[in-house]
Amino acid sequence: MSYLAKNYNRKKISFKRGKGSYLYTANGIRYLDFVQGIAVNSLGHAHPKLVKTINQQSKKLWHVSNAFLIPEGEILAKKLAKKTFADYVMFQNSGAEATEAAIKVARRYFYSIGKPHKNRILCVKNSFHGRTLAAIYASGSKKMTEGFGPRIAGFDHFKFGDHKSLKKKITKNTAAIMVETILGEGGIKVIPDWCLKELKKICNKKKILLILDEVQCGIGRSGDFFAFEKSKVKPDIVPIAKGIGGGFPIGAVLMNKKVASAMTAGSHGSTFGGNPMAMRVGSVVFDIISKKSFLENVKKNSKYFHDQLNKVREKFPKLIKQVRGRGFLIGLQLYRDQTDFINELMKNKLLTIRAAENVIRILPPLNVKKNDIDKALKIINKVCLKYK
Ligand SMILES: *Cc1c(COP(=O)(O)O)cnc(C)c1O
Repeated sequence: MSYLAKNYNRKKISFKRGKGSYLYTANGIRYLDFVQGIAVNSLGHAHPKLVKTINQQSKKLWHVSNAFLIPEGEILAKKLAKKTFADYVMFQNSGAEATEAAIKVARRYFYSIGKPHKNRILCVKNSFHGRTLAAIYASGSKKMTEGFGPRIAGFDHFKFGDHKSLKKKITKNTAAIMVETILGEGGIKVIPDWCLKELKKICNKKKILLILDEVQCGIGRSGDFFAFEKSKVKPDIVPIAKGIGGGFPIGAVLMNKKVASAMTAGSHGSTFGGNPMAMRVGSVVFDIISKKSFLENVKKNSKYFHDQLNKVREKFPKLIKQVRGRGFLIGLQLYRDQTDFINELMKNKLLTIRAAENVIRILPPLNVKKNDIDKALKIINKVCLKYK
């Protein structure tokens, strides 16, 4: 019997080790891992530079309190600030903590300028910002909030793509609009660049803040370091997590100078957030992924994957409805429930994961090799033949 709580619907398989794009069971059976811990292992399993970094740092220093200076954190924060819109960074340990901290920053900013009534956050209905109490009510999903009342106040929602409703829901109490630049769990739905620009315009006009949740779509996943970069929009606050640790738990809130000024000493904190071990790993991940040539490669290889998947869709037009997403955040939307299809892919040694709206999420490591993409395509083709 298992003593783990039953809050996951787990596949009956486990793995002993991983290397790059592959996972191995105890019996040595090899699986092509296009889940990668849900966009977490951005450089695949057991990347030699990360292994080396962890080994070295583990002999020096794991953890010190944020009561002291942490030079390793200074270094990563500087790298993030130099490379992105951000002026300041606040480290956490996970995505939900990062989105919660983003909400706190937005509220605290309006408090600090004498407008504490501006405290409501406007979000997309059935989006995903994590599983803490505030985050589930921010996500506005009935399923995630069921049984966890009383409702956490302060969140309003509009339907994805419903611009009229979005404008109507902004009141004098709105502090910020918070959206995922590309909805992950919600079905790999890209917010088009022109929409992001409009969002920013609305925020400017209404003097409210723009929070772009890049926990899943950020850190090179889209082919750009941040998914919003292509639109040229500058958000005020960006929570990140998943990909930045390459498998080590790291979260962070990136913010501009204006809002960061509200986060005075004692206003927020984290015991584990920003510890030397996490910061060293994060720095190495950042150095690799932020390189122009690395991101160019993500763009090139992911375009190939999208093009080929679209060819598969053309071959099976009654089975595959749409190829969604950008970069290596890919959604294969079926006309039918995707559960059997995912299980069949797994039988053929390809691991993928579901998202809403009958979507199969495909999340290779960002440094995936082209012949591993071809291997995945072959398996997808084969399974399509079974279900066409
Ligand atoms: C995964 C995710 C989160 C939550 O991250 P956790 O580390 O599971 O808390 C928040 N926002 C988005 C967009 C995510 O994909």
